[in-house]
Amino acid sequence: MTHTDLITIDPVIRPIFSQKDISVHVLRLDKCDPVVSGNKWFKLRFYLEDAIKKNKKTITTFGGPWSNHLVATAAACKKLGIKSVGYVRGEKPEQFSHTLKTAVALGMELQFLSRDTYAVEKLETSKQITSYVIPEGGYGQLGAKGASTITEFFNEDQFTHVLAAVGTGTMLAGLAKSLKQATLIGIPVLKGKETLAEAVKYLLPTTTCTWTLLEGYEWGGYAKHPPELLDYMNQLFVATQIPTDLVYTAKLFYATEQLAANDFFKKGSRLLLIHSGGLQGNQSLEKEKLCFTTGNE
Ligand SMILES: *Cc1c(COP(=O)(O)O)cnc(C)c1O
Repeated sequence: MTHTDLITIDPVIRPIFSQKDISVHVLRLDKCDPVVSGNKWFKLRFYLEDAIKKNKKTITTFGGPWSNHLVATAAACKKLGIKSVGYVRGEKPEQFSHTLKTAVALGMELQFLSRDTYAVEKLETSKQITSYVIPEGGYGQLGAKGASTITEFFNEDQFTHVLAAVGTGTMLAGLAKSLKQATLIGIPVLKGKETLAEAVKYLLPTTTCTWTLLEGYEWGGYAKHPPELLDYMNQLFVATQIPTDLVYTAKLFYATEQLAANDFFKKGSRLLLIHSGGLQGNQSLEKEKLCFTTGNE
């Protein structure tokens, strides 16, 4: 099986709103496989290829209890018939998150690392194990190389700006590798712009792309989701039928609307938002909080 058999890619680009003579289109990577969703497939693809080439029978990776990366890896490995092991940050919980339950259902073996010693243990474990290791969040050159292929799904000349949510910075680095004239804007979903910028630069020794990180849209930090953010997600869905996830894409859409409202973009700007998926994370919320979950139910 080759990596292209893994999922079907059906991105849809359509206008969601026009205000102040600014057009917004969305690349619907969330419409890929519901579990190996969005940018995770792109970040994983060359690691998977490499593992297969090296004839590895097991893939090990790392992530938090709500990690989209962990489930995506589990799903991809299952499809490819490779055993997967996930090291989870934090003690083994009594009640597994929806994400962890899904990972287990997909055949992933879970190991729990204490929060205090996670960083050190992650490093030690990576050194000791003989299976193929994919770094946490897919962060690394192969991850960025995979993310750089996202640009194959649109014609850059049609847009002045490309906007994407940023976690580890792997996707942003990948996009920056491929983009030539459009300005690339990353919206961090966690605090620490300087560290993030360094992480992106590390994967991007040279680039002609103009990229920037715009902070202030973290809503309190990683995976924080005050009621106002959930309200926004519901309103957006009712208006556009676009489902967003509470960790990444809701913050991206909100930031874009705010920036447009505050005249950040010149008249006539044409924006492309990368909907990077992640909808499985919404299932960790109580059902009545959102009027949709993945948009496909
Ligand atoms: C993981 C993820 C991101 C962040 O990607 P990075 O490469 O880690 O910056 C953005 N959106 C969604 C939906 C994700 O799951």
